Amino acid sequence: MLRGVRQISFSTPYRTGLEEPYIAEALKSSVWHGDGQFTKRASDFLTELTGATSTLLTTSGTHALELAAVALGLGPGDEVIVPTFTFPSTATAIALRGATPVFVDVLPETLNLDIDATAAALTDRTRAIFVVHYGGVAADLDRLTELAAANDVAIVEDNAHGLGAYYDGQHLGTFGTFGAQSWHDTKNFTCGEGGALLINDASLLSRAEIIREKGTNRSQFLRGQVDKYTWVDQGSSYLPSELQAAVLMAQFEHYSEIQGKRHAVWDRYATDLKAWAADHGVSLMTVPERRQHPAHLYYLLLPTHEDQQAFIASLAAESIVAPFHYQPLHASPAGKALGRTPFPCDVADDRAHRLVRLPLHANLTESDLDRVVSAISSFVPIHG
Ligand SMILES: *Cc1c(COP(=O)(O)O)cnc(C)c1O
Repeated sequence: MLRGVRQISFSTPYRTGLEEPYIAEALKSSVWHGDGQFTKRASDFLTELTGATSTLLTTSGTHALELAAVALGLGPGDEVIVPTFTFPSTATAIALRGATPVFVDVLPETLNLDIDATAAALTDRTRAIFVVHYGGVAADLDRLTELAAANDVAIVEDNAHGLGAYYDGQHLGTFGTFGAQSWHDTKNFTCGEGGALLINDASLLSRAEIIREKGTNRSQFLRGQVDKYTWVDQGSSYLPSELQAAVLMAQFEHYSEIQGKRHAVWDRYATDLKAWAADHGVSLMTVPERRQHPAHLYYLLLPTHEDQQAFIASLAAESIVAPFHYQPLHASPAGKALGRTPFPCDVADDRAHRLVRLPLHANLTESDLDRVVSAISSFVPIHG
């Protein structure tokens, strides 16, 4: 690290200024547990933004995926197709039910689920497909929804990257039975840790509410729909406190400001790195037509793994943090023990060794970006 030079972080949470007053307001109320006024406001915001049938705030994105897996009744003997290039949560939610994640390769263009490989991986045990929209760039949802419908298989969208992302104008997370969002502090909107489940099948709402509330029908009781509440189904505790919801709502109040700042960073990389990338055999992240991305991340593909390592080190020498990303799950210890991988996953294996993400958050200044662009522009790959 250079002395006297401020480190440029890969990701830092953005403070809108409303977090403290909203927390103070939540503390003044007698409702500190979940499902108070801030939870209602934040879920309404999400339902309106996404067009989902209904939204339930959860304690994390991982918990939203787990809730979906319980609600779908996944269990031992069931198989669920998952892209190998994703965060472990997409698969743990399945494995925790005793079901088997089946890992499938991704496509070079988007690093999203390969639909031909998905079709080939279907068996009579396949119950669902957990699709990920990497960087909030939509997977091929036309072909995926068609394939799922033809085979009577549910879709769950791990949309942790994709708040503010669309496919043909429709918000991601609303194509499957369920969509999972995350408010971890590396995501566009955060309350530290948190998540949400987008529900797009009205018939599953009441079951999802019950699972989220320890298997009780407390939500119906609070709405006056039943006169006492009791244990009625499987469940856990997936509802965040009002303090979390207050911070989240503070972020949502500044939705356009946060997204505007992030898009400005993304656009600057796309413009300023074009010539350098073309001259040095580097591929920049692309967004295929019909997709509107949310500026969640920006990545480069270096020519070789050696170049990836050298690139990360050369930015680190300038106090700039630029990390690689997912280690494919099919090759992980738990992926091998708990999952199944019917075909080689060559694209994911190759991209994991060449991909680097650039700093992208709403706190980056013009001079930070000057530093990042200039550090990158002076890097020359060995194999370029
Ligand atoms: C962040 C993330 C998750 C997990 O979300 P948490 O809120 O941290 O539990 C799941 N899947 C993907 C693709 C993610 O990026």
